[in-house]
Amino acid sequence: MDKVLVVGGAGYIGSHCCKALAASGREVVVFDNLSTGHEDLCLWAPLVKGDVCDKAAVSQLFEDHQFSAVFHFAAKSLVGESAAKPAFYWNTNVSGTMNLLDAMVHHSVPNIIFSSTAAVYGEPDRPLIDETQTLAPINTYGRTKVACEQMIRSYAEAHQLGYVCPRYFNAAGADADLETGEDHSPETHVIPILLEAARGIRGKFSIFGDDYATSDGTAVRDYIHVTDLANAHVAALDHLVLGGESVAVNLGTSQGASVKELIEVARTTTGKTIPTEVAPRRAGDPAQLVADATKAQTLFNWKPTNSTLEQIIDDAWRWHLKRF
Ligand code: UDP
Repeated sequence: MDKVLVVGGAGYIGSHCCKALAASGREVVVFDNLSTGHEDLCLWAPLVKGDVCDKAAVSQLFEDHQFSAVFHFAAKSLVGESAAKPAFYWNTNVSGTMNLLDAMVHHSVPNIIFSSTAAVYGEPDRPLIDETQTLAPINTYGRTKVACEQMIRSYAEAHQLGYVCPRYFNAAGADADLETGEDHSPETHVIPILLEAARGIRGKFSIFGDDYATSDGTAVRDYIHVTDLANAHVAALDHLVLGGESVAVNLGTSQGASVKELIEVARTTTGKTIPTEVAPRRAGDPAQLVADATKAQTLFNWKPTNSTLEQIIDDAWRWHLKRF
């Protein structure tokens, strides 16, 4: 049986990906330092506790297992924190990725799926972002991800690695069976914050800006169900195994939703009033980020099937009630 490594497999997207990989018949091993991940969400694979920045631990992992592919989710990903702690971000994200690539080359592991982000585009100059949009990150987090993508390309050219760099838009929702879901501390993402407001765990929900040039004045994002993201990762590996080209691709739904639309769906789903207030814009937030996800759909023969706002928020709400 194919054995694949999921680095960061105890985290939000990583754990959903482990479930999808196990369902596809792969044997999975998770490597995670549990800095933001959770051991109890690691249900589909043995957990090797370790840090991607620890070169010796990474080497040992590859000595102990012969992997056919690496999925790399383990990165720091908070924009604000990345501004305050650049060395921490460059070290974890870029050195960590280099340690993995070195081990892959040393042990002849052919394929990597590397978690990238829409933050590589910065402030896009078009309403629907396709992969030809210039890479112009406006924060340290996005810059580290561009650097990793470039590094992967260099290793791929020199050592014949296959790669896919999925660039995520807004991952949201939870496993429909509630075996895993989102659990960040502190939580900064809009949907779990809305649900906390619905439960009365926090006060009013703050709408960060209602004077954007969008249809209702609030910012528009492309929310994609985390299960659809996970399925895209399996499809990306299948693509590489069949000899498909190495690529960076957007993973989104190609549909935008505003903050006000989220609030309305959250009110209907939870049956709660959800008090809101308008607050100033959050620094660095563009008005609209929506993917043109045609490339991933065409290359991987994949499409999102769980990503209506209703399903995303219903799954997130049921998970929230179970977990917190
Ligand atoms: N947002 C908001 N109130 C919050 C948290 C987020 O209005 O308490 C908005 C945020 O300004 C952005 C959108 O919700 O326009 C999505 O934010 P999130 O942090 O979930 O994802 P991002 O797009 O920043 O990666």
